[in-house]
Amino acid sequence: ARIPLVAGNWKMNFDHLEATYFLQKLAWLLRDAKFDYRRCELALMPAFTALRSVQVLVEADDLKIHYGAQTVSVTSQGAFTGDVSADMLAQLGCSYVIVGHSERRKYHPEDDANIVDQVRAVLAAGMQPILCVGESYEERRQGIELEFAVGQVQDVTRDLSKDDVAKLIVAYEPVWAVGTGMVATPDVAREAARAIRSHVESAFGSQPAQAMRILYGGSVTSKNVQELIGQPDVDGFLIGGAALDVDEFARIARMT
Ligand code: 13P
Repeated sequence: ARIPLVAGNWKMNFDHLEATYFLQKLAWLLRDAKFDYRRCELALMPAFTALRSVQVLVEADDLKIHYGAQTVSVTSQGAFTGDVSADMLAQLGCSYVIVGHSERRKYHPEDDANIVDQVRAVLAAGMQPILCVGESYEERRQGIELEFAVGQVQDVTRDLSKDDVAKLIVAYEPVWAVGTGMVATPDVAREAARAIRSHVESAFGSQPAQAMRILYGGSVTSKNVQELIGQPDVDGFLIGGAALDVDEFARIARMT
């Protein structure tokens, strides 16, 4: 069975001090609540600048919280000013890297080819990519939302091996739901997750399709999380705004 994953995408929020404070308080809240980290996995995605502090704290206090980055370079080293390589992230103890978030696709030249290369770089460094897909309002209006989201998965996974696909995590994040307060209905989240899994099953077979975790993201809060996690094929959440409030994030973790 797939263990649910609740991942917080902090986006461009929290310096290393704020990140450290958040993590200490989260661990303390969850200890009080006797949270079972084996039942539900937790991860946080800070800015690059906070990763080393997070690593030091996680190791010093032996926290059971995973962490990762929000994007990665497609190259391994060299003259690429401003970029950070997958090996550098792996050295910092990252388990995950978000790849192809809609905000990256919008504000940076991240197209499918670049996203495929990021996925390969993350896997080669021994981490797991969290591939973000999802339609905008326009595709939904046209009624082609499932084709669109599945098409994005297909474009990125086409040339990957079965083993690689089994390590992939897909986050279905409809663009209209990101940061808008308009959460997808449980039906919408379930249908998208099901369509993505059945595509992977027909393209790669049932083992990778059953192994692959599919998250929902977009305006998740403690008010809507319960109905969403009840949906088959939804294996957890990628959380933006609600992951900036430690009490709220702890509530979501406990309800998942
Ligand atoms: P919100 O939870 O703020 O809608 O953001 C979702 C998101 O983009 C997570 O990657």
